[in-house]
Amino acid sequence: MEQALKAALADRKKDKLFRYRKTLESAQGPSVIVEGREYLAFCSNDYLGLANHPAVIKAFRDAANHYGVGSGASHLVCGHSQEHHLLEEALAEFTGRDRAILFSSGYMANLGTINALLDKSDAIFEDRLNHASLLDGGLLSGARFQRFLHNDCSNLESRLQKSAARRKLVVADSVFSMDGDFAPLPELAQVAQRHGAWLMADDAHGFGVLGQRGAGCSEHFSLDQTQLPVLMGTLGKALGTYGAFVAGSETLIETLIQFSRNYIYTTALPPAVAAATRVSLVLVEEESWRREKLQALISRFRQGALQLGLALMDSSTPIQPIIIGSAEKTLQVSAQLESAGILVGAIRPPTVAEGSARLRITIMAEHSEAQVDRLLSALDDCFE
Ligand SMILES: *Cc1c(COP(=O)(O)O)cnc(C)c1O
Repeated sequence: MEQALKAALADRKKDKLFRYRKTLESAQGPSVIVEGREYLAFCSNDYLGLANHPAVIKAFRDAANHYGVGSGASHLVCGHSQEHHLLEEALAEFTGRDRAILFSSGYMANLGTINALLDKSDAIFEDRLNHASLLDGGLLSGARFQRFLHNDCSNLESRLQKSAARRKLVVADSVFSMDGDFAPLPELAQVAQRHGAWLMADDAHGFGVLGQRGAGCSEHFSLDQTQLPVLMGTLGKALGTYGAFVAGSETLIETLIQFSRNYIYTTALPPAVAAATRVSLVLVEEESWRREKLQALISRFRQGALQLGLALMDSSTPIQPIIIGSAEKTLQVSAQLESAGILVGAIRPPTVAEGSARLRITIMAEHSEAQVDRLLSALDDCFE
């Protein structure tokens, strides 16, 4: 075993795919401290800058004083706190759904939802670029697993047509996590409805960011519970806390409570995380200036990058990838940016397809225009 593992690790290094963890010594924010040095960071999913917001911190602290730190048990045993319950009600209301259920993470929500809905008599249809947790959930369910071409509704439709499965579930990221583009959810909803399938959207990168009130993809595309029956969102990104939820009909949510193994057999989130999330939900809804500022910064970045001749992708979201191609070159560019004091994600296979390694730049509402300009000029130095 030891030898086999060592060989696999050596291969990964040789292929320039080895991952190293940076240890942060500061909170999330436009600038972070790593090994005593300050960097300008364009790699956080804390898009609205709520992870370190004083009101969110205060709610977390106050709730910890009242409820302690750990939840002590799973939701069905005795870990379901009134804080969880209130947050579920707030999430249902915010997303315009009958009911919502909290999961301890987005990864678990995806595994736990797909596996409660499907088994080997069923079929699942996933966009090729779906997040790993959706793909893993589909594979684990034992349902017939199919991937359709990225954002290609006619490819999906011909697959649905041929399927005689008992239940059919169509699944997509609402905003693709490594490309930043939208799924055509209204069209996917129509195709799904024509074939008696349910649509599930993973709104990890849309919730808080999309829609007038920040309610995410369902608000942005005006999709009700019939069109989009399974809405999953995460709390660790734009909401700035931790955890995830699924929102939908009473029947869906009760099915998850009764049958979702990833819900039943895990410890509930700390109640203080739920309390902090309720405050960040209010900030998301009331302080729309964060979304406006974010959008203005995204436009500034895209305009500047176009002027520099950088190859942008078709993304209007905070996720702004620049495809480089080889893993080695991607590492070189990200190291050059790092020596200029700027951190961006260097994303390589197997997270993205072979030959499509990229910088994954993420913009936060807390960045300043000057910081975006500094990123642009550093990118210019790398690519000139
Ligand atoms: C981050 C992410 C998840 C996982 O959520 P966690 O709460 O971090 O486990 C799921 N889906 C997508 C698209 C994501 O980007």
